[in-house]
Amino acid sequence: MPPRVPHSDFFAPSNKRCIKARRATGRQNAAPVAAGHGPQTKWASLRNAIGAIADLTSEKGRPPTTTIEGAEVPVWQITAVYGRAARRCTIQLYGGILMCGIVGYIGPRQAQTVILQGLKRLEYRGYDSAGVAVLAQNGHIAVRRDVGKLNNLEAMVASSPLAGHIGIGHTRWATHGAPTQRNAHPHVSMNGRVVVVHNGIVENYLALRSELSAEGVSFASETDTEVIVQLIERYLDAGQSFETAVRQTLQQLKGANAVVAMCLDNPDRLICARLGNAGGITIGLGDEEVFIASDIPAILEYTRDMIFLENRQMAIVTPHSFEITTLDGRPSTPDRHTIAWDPVSAAKGEYKHFMQKEIFEQPRALI
Ligand code: GLU
Repeated sequence: MPPRVPHSDFFAPSNKRCIKARRATGRQNAAPVAAGHGPQTKWASLRNAIGAIADLTSEKGRPPTTTIEGAEVPVWQITAVYGRAARRCTIQLYGGILMCGIVGYIGPRQAQTVILQGLKRLEYRGYDSAGVAVLAQNGHIAVRRDVGKLNNLEAMVASSPLAGHIGIGHTRWATHGAPTQRNAHPHVSMNGRVVVVHNGIVENYLALRSELSAEGVSFASETDTEVIVQLIERYLDAGQSFETAVRQTLQQLKGANAVVAMCLDNPDRLICARLGNAGGITIGLGDEEVFIASDIPAILEYTRDMIFLENRQMAIVTPHSFEITTLDGRPSTPDRHTIAWDPVSAAKGEYKHFMQKEIFEQPRALI
């Protein structure tokens, strides 16, 4: 049986000679067939083609873009030769598969250290800017972010460290708004109560943004992401709890999105959620600490005990607990997975990228 990939980024509608894999931007009638559900031939083709994309990404940088519903979206179109008959396989990826990363941490360690290390392990996904936010002990949200490589962010954090035990970080692949410092994540709400990192595209952000602007919210970035954080704060200001504010906000979003939110009023928790396929949300359970990431390698050095959020699930995590519900509030009992593979030997092994390894080894990875 082909493997099931619980947090796969891929959709692979396919015919005999061609795979069009579309990263979920929530449209393009993608007729979603998750990678690994199809016949073995399709699976093998996709594996080869993904290898080609991973190579192209590291060599050539940014892909061309197209406009979908007013948003500029990167599009990969790569033709790879595969199989004994040297058949051709064309892949189109709307949004790009190597897009951005999320890391969150709550526990006794210094959050910035865990987050920067985790982001480094997600570098293979590609990004144009990076940032980190920590809930500082003096009771405010401190943010550092910069364009370019993680080294820039590391230098910034080294000269101006963030002390605190709860934080979120992000590597961005811009879809809305240029790759600039002020568009880099994390994004903080107007009154500084909430901060979020986000992967994906809020398709209805224009409508939400004009609604919020009409109510007096001032925006500090050009991103679609900022509507999320401003909406959460609006619900908090209206007296809702952090959990309800996030839930109500997420229920309004259209598109494929992965989000992690942190709130000044609730310094004991992070809330994360997954809507569709926008890079996945993996929760790593440690001893009195919890890790959140787009992908397994970011947190594998700390724990092998992991949960993968399903579509339209939300998790509230504290250092000692996790609670998973559907977006409409029904409790969910997640499967816990023990990840067997070793990040160090994986890095030195036959795979150029963790994503390749993840895809190729899923059948052996989950027990
Ligand atoms: N759409 C968001 C932005 O442009 C998130 C992009 C990403 O997934 O990195 O900032």
